[in-house]
Amino acid sequence: MNATILLLLPVLAWLCACSSEAPRRPNILVVSIDTLRADHLGCYGYERPTSPAIDEFAARAVVFEDAHSSASWTLPSFASLYTSLYSTTHGCWKVDSRLESEHDTLAEHLRDAGWDTCLIVPHMFLSGQYGLQQGFTHVDDSLVRTAIESNKVVSSPAMTEKTLAWLERKKQSPDDSPFFLWVHYFDPHDLYLPHEGISEQFGTTEEIDLYDGEIRFVDLHVGRLLARVRELWGDDVVVAIVADHGEEFGEHGHKRHGYSLYQEAVHIPFILQAPGFQPRRVPDLVSNIDFMPTILDLSGVEPRGRMEGRSLVPFLRGESLPPRGALSEVRWHDDQDMRCWREEDWKLHEDRSHGKERDELYDLAADPKERANLIERREEPLQRLRTGLGHALGVALQLAKSYPQPRRYQPSPGDAARLGALGYAEDAVGADGK
Ligand SMILES: [Zn+2]
Repeated sequence: MNATILLLLPVLAWLCACSSEAPRRPNILVVSIDTLRADHLGCYGYERPTSPAIDEFAARAVVFEDAHSSASWTLPSFASLYTSLYSTTHGCWKVDSRLESEHDTLAEHLRDAGWDTCLIVPHMFLSGQYGLQQGFTHVDDSLVRTAIESNKVVSSPAMTEKTLAWLERKKQSPDDSPFFLWVHYFDPHDLYLPHEGISEQFGTTEEIDLYDGEIRFVDLHVGRLLARVRELWGDDVVVAIVADHGEEFGEHGHKRHGYSLYQEAVHIPFILQAPGFQPRRVPDLVSNIDFMPTILDLSGVEPRGRMEGRSLVPFLRGESLPPRGALSEVRWHDDQDMRCWREEDWKLHEDRSHGKERDELYDLAADPKERANLIERREEPLQRLRTGLGHALGVALQLAKSYPQPRRYQPSPGDAARLGALGYAEDAVGADGK
C-alpha cells in the first residue's frame, strides 16, 4: 500500500459512510381515488365487502384512521396534497382557480431531486389549466375529455392499463432513476353506474348502493395494479392510497360533495406502506396537508418552502406526535363560506354562507354522525375551538401573502359544460340532490 492510498483512506472511509447513511431514494406510487369516503371501506369499518383489495393492502400498511381533507371537493384538496397548504393559503378554492407556478409542489421537489415523475389522470381538475401538473415530467391526461363530458365513461380499467404500461416500461428502462407515479381513479364520482357482476350484490336501485358497487369496481382495478407492483418490486416501494374528499347521501340535507364539511364529506382514507415500517393503525387526527411533508421525509428530500402540514413518519415508527387541529374549508361559489376546525374529538363548524352566521359543535367520540349540535351547551370546548380556528385562519391568511393570488382562468364553453356535468354550476347552489 503506497503513501498516496494511505493518505486517501480516511477520505474513502468518509465516502463509504456517507453513501451508507445517505437516504435511499424509494420508488413512490400514489393511488388517489375520487369521492371515496373512508367509512365505505372495510379497513375503516364498513360492513359491506366494497374493498377486499384495498383492505388486503391496508393490512400490510399504516392506516391513518382519522384523516381529514382540507376541502370537500377536488381542486382545493389536490392543491393541498401537492403543496401542504390550506385552501386559504394556496387560494385555489374557486372552480376557475389555478395553482400558480410560484408554488413549489411535491412533484417539483421530487423531480428536481432526480425522481422520474409521472401523472396519469382522467379528471378535468387535474388537466393542465388548473396548474396541478407542475413537476410531472410525464403526463397522460388523454382521458380527461372523454371521461368528463358525460360522467358516464368508465375509466378505472384504462387507468390501471396505462399505469401498468408505464411501470413495465420503467422496469425495462436502463434509466435507474426512482419513479414518483401518481394515478387517479374517478369512478366513484357521480353518476353512479352499475357494473355487471359486481354491483348486483350491493343493489342497483338506490344511489348509495350503486356508489358501493363503484367502490368495489375501483377496488378490483386498484388491486390489479397493486398486485403487479408487488410482483415487480416486492414491498420495496412507497405506496399511498388517498382520497380527495368523501360523498354525501342526504345525511345532512345534501347530496354529492362540495356543499358541507360534515364527516361524510371530509373523512378520507389515507393508507401508506413504506419499506422498513411495520403495519399499524394510527388513531390520531391528521390532514391531507400532511401528505407532502410525509412523502418528502420518506424520500430524504428537504422542503424548500413553508408547509402548513408536518411529516407523519414518527407515527410510522410507532412514536407519538403532539396533537394538532385540522382545518377544512369550502367556498367554490360566491355565496358560500364554510369552514370547520377539528381538535381531537371535537369539531366546530362555522357557516357564513349567504351572509348568515350558523355555528355547530359536535363531540365526534359520542356523536360520530354529527347529529347533536352542542353549540349552546358546551362553552368550554367551544371557546377553545374558536381560538384554534381563529389562529389557524390567521396563520393561513398571513402565509397567503407569500403567494400570488390565483389568476383565474377563463373556462371555454366546452369546459364550462364539463364543470356543469361535474356539479359545479352556480345555478345548482342550494339545490339539494343536484
Ligand atoms: Zn373529487
